[in-house]
Amino acid sequence: MKSIYSKISLVLCITSSLYSYAWGLTGHRIIAEIAENHLSGKAKREIRKMMGQERLAYWANWPDFIKSDTTGTWKQASAWHYVNIDPQTDFKAFEQNLKAQAGPNLYSQIKTLSAQIKDEKTAEKDRKIALIFLIHMVGDLTQPLHTGRSEDLGGNKINVTYFGDKTNLHSVWDGKLVDSQKYSYTEYAKLLDIKSKEEVAQIQSGTLENWLYDSHLIANKIYAQTPEGSKLSYEYQYKFNDTMERQLLYGGLRLAKVLNDLF
Ligand SMILES: [Zn+2]
Repeated sequence: MKSIYSKISLVLCITSSLYSYAWGLTGHRIIAEIAENHLSGKAKREIRKMMGQERLAYWANWPDFIKSDTTGTWKQASAWHYVNIDPQTDFKAFEQNLKAQAGPNLYSQIKTLSAQIKDEKTAEKDRKIALIFLIHMVGDLTQPLHTGRSEDLGGNKINVTYFGDKTNLHSVWDGKLVDSQKYSYTEYAKLLDIKSKEEVAQIQSGTLENWLYDSHLIANKIYAQTPEGSKLSYEYQYKFNDTMERQLLYGGLRLAKVLNDLF
């Protein structure tokens, strides 16, 4: 009996390590749940009309699930989750670099999807899909390594261990730091979503370019402090937990802002 279980868990481990799930299931749901709490009445009504009664968190991970689609329908969408930028520490240089990137990528696609949702001529089915992608991708934009370097694929090629398990830097930031806290997504959303009205307005200010730059600066810091071969455990959690939680909260509040502006 025991060996069956260990075989099953081995298969699960291998399968899950093949995919880089961008904030992981819990992270995207936390972001969507926080966003839900900050939707305007009008945005909430319009979204329900389009999507039905499910909460945003229900849809938040679908754009990662379809990476496993084998029919080729969604092949082009895998590049929409990130935009790789060489390290910049100057906003103007970053913005130039960002705009010069060949698309579609996270940056160009957030704009394209927003325009599709706004355009009343877009077919209902396509508007719905665009909205599901947007819910996911505004979350991806606050996962710092989705604005990381291209040479290491946003940290995917930087091998580290996490509590002794072989993994890579990208994966630590997608899910492992979040999951280490062992909260459900609703518990975590509730714990993080405690800012005052003024603080929320401050976090929601700025442009899409500013938000990407904000993530990019954090990616630079992560790279500097997590070289190839790092053995990560409690100390790393201690060092970066605040940053990870900030990014989840900012993702949620900024997603609400994007949706409130759209509807
Ligand atoms: Zn993603």
